[in-house]
Amino acid sequence: MSESKVVVITGASSGIGEATAKLLAKDGAKLVLGARRENRLKDIADSIEKLGGEATYQSTDVTDDDQVESLAKLAIDKFGRIDVWLNNAGIMPQSVLSEKKINDWNNMIDINIKGTLYGIGAAIPYMDKQKSGHIINVSSVAGHTAHQGSAVYSATKFAVRAISESLRQEMVDAKNNVRVTVISPGAINTELLSSVTDPEVKANMEKFYESFGIPVDRVALTIKEAIDMPADAAWNEVIIRPTNQLG
Ligand code: NDP
Repeated sequence: MSESKVVVITGASSGIGEATAKLLAKDGAKLVLGARRENRLKDIADSIEKLGGEATYQSTDVTDDDQVESLAKLAIDKFGRIDVWLNNAGIMPQSVLSEKKINDWNNMIDINIKGTLYGIGAAIPYMDKQKSGHIINVSSVAGHTAHQGSAVYSATKFAVRAISESLRQEMVDAKNNVRVTVISPGAINTELLSSVTDPEVKANMEKFYESFGIPVDRVALTIKEAIDMPADAAWNEVIIRPTNQLG
């Protein structure tokens, strides 16, 4: 069903973005990959093309609206449409508030929240014209609950859910058939912990992920299922968590 859909993915250079790109490409989707590490994007696009798939890529920092707009334009120039836009780029440098890690706070707000908004802003005009489309935003289990140390990360992921629900209602009002899905993963083994700057928090998280983390293809499969739903139905929100993860 993802066959021949044009899918734009931010944060496509590793983890959930990379796994989703490869899975959808196998199914015939045309991929447009964005992230900052261009060499990684090139390798992923090459490996997709070697398997007979179609992919293009562009270095994209989601904190820069011009670069996000340019990624959308690449999709239109190369493939003529945007069927799915996956706002996946994100970082998780958790720490307690008293550490006052202002750079981490700002980066999470810029990447996790503003990056998602810029993606929506870039994709919607095209989807509106097409009278179809699908925005998929990656939140987190941490977007449903907060704990010591997760304040800003959780706040950004709660924000993704709030933005998504407002967007869903606005799309209904616009009668443009644009679906909105929020994917909220639990502990998934990716490169995400490399964004944690506090050594103690990082060590604790590494232990947690070693005990509970599950392979990334579980999330890719979830995203594919959401895309494959018939167009008159939308999975608005999915939590995909390791069976043995408590919170
Ligand atoms: P990874 O670290 O493997 O992937 C994160 C991706 O985001 C990378 O491709 C990175 O690429 C990209 N990225 C980071 N900053 C920017 C930026 N400024 N502009 C563009 N791209 C950027 O981790 P995951 O795959 O796990 O993370 C994907 C999403 O899943 C994130 O939103 C994360 O919060 C969410 N998530 C992950 C969970 C997990 O346990 N793994 C749990 C819950 C949610 P590059 O550095 O090349 O720019």
